[in-house]
Amino acid sequence: MQLQQLHDPRSTTCSYLIWDEATREAAIIDPVQDQLARDLRLLKDLGLTLRYALETHVPIDHITASGQLRELLDAAVLVPEGYGSKNPDVLLRDNDLIPLGNGRIRVISTPGHTGCGVSYYIPGAVFTGDTLLVGSCGRTDLQSGDAGVLYDSITRRLFTLPDDTVVYPGHNGAGRPASSILDEKRHNPRIGNGRTREDFIAIMKNLRLDPPSALHEALPVNLRNGIATMEPRSA
Ligand code: FE
Repeated sequence: MQLQQLHDPRSTTCSYLIWDEATREAAIIDPVQDQLARDLRLLKDLGLTLRYALETHVPIDHITASGQLRELLDAAVLVPEGYGSKNPDVLLRDNDLIPLGNGRIRVISTPGHTGCGVSYYIPGAVFTGDTLLVGSCGRTDLQSGDAGVLYDSITRRLFTLPDDTVVYPGHNGAGRPASSILDEKRHNPRIGNGRTREDFIAIMKNLRLDPPSALHEALPVNLRNGIATMEPRSA
């Protein structure tokens, strides 16, 4: 399986294009509407057929492009069960296998940042959304988040993957585009290096983050897979 990391500078979101080299069938994880033109061009340049638009969770910091990718390319929109989408094609459950050409993408249920988040695994790589970020993790104070649940998802599901699995996060805020399961086990300051569940819950409780600026416009639109007429964003 081949992959390319894509970046949306405004929201710092990382999207991922993954494809099977032989059949040229592709999936995109967490596509961003602002980057739709770029992604359509990339698919064309690489000669790929987009089969799926996958969401790791309901985004609140950007608008998804999944609905438009369905309309334009006939890609299926796949979201985690419990996502709340008005019109998904497939609701994903833990351990579901999504066929992609000669390969498969495995769904790993990793709630905690949100109530129903998932990660996507292919041999050698895991796409963690905001469940696990490089040296960090997603917030747990919005969208039915729960720090204890996130701790369990990371330590029991992600940290049990092979140590050399590359971690591809949903945001590239720290400047490092990817890390590994071993790196995060050893060095993640919130949850690595033997941090207990109680330590982690206390750390998350004390973050006191501001809500993301796009929260109220993004959430309802994303529950319609990004299909809505948006007011022009003020700069
Ligand atoms: Fe998030």
